Amino acid sequence: MMKEMICILCPVGCHLSIDVENDYKVTGNSCPRGGVYGREELIAPKRVVTSTIRVLGGIHNMVPVKTDKSIPKELMFECMEILKDVKVKSPMNVGDIVVENILNTGSNIVITRDI
Ligand code: SF4
Repeated sequence: MMKEMICILCPVGCHLSIDVENDYKVTGNSCPRGGVYGREELIAPKRVVTSTIRVLGGIHNMVPVKTDKSIPKELMFECMEILKDVKVKSPMNVGDIVVENILNTGSNIVITRDI
């Protein structure tokens, strides 16, 4: 069975075909990143999570955050639940880590705006 998808890693948008019965062999990718993406997307899809968390003592009440690496898609909801209870104190800078190694994924939650 062949699965078709568009690689979203860069603006080229290669049309990938993944051969599920042939060890998820990917064709149509113009670079190796697309091969890894197509395979992972079918076997273990991952996503970057973006959200907002509360700020104490700053001008703004909330600050945007994201995972610094993609995490398994099935952990996204749990990740969002954890972030609901996370609060930070102003001042902080873009890239500062607010949660290290969230859910043991190897990904950190980082701030994406100075506060
Ligand atoms: S396969 Fe490579 S070149 Fe093609 S869209 Fe993906 S990242 Fe871009």
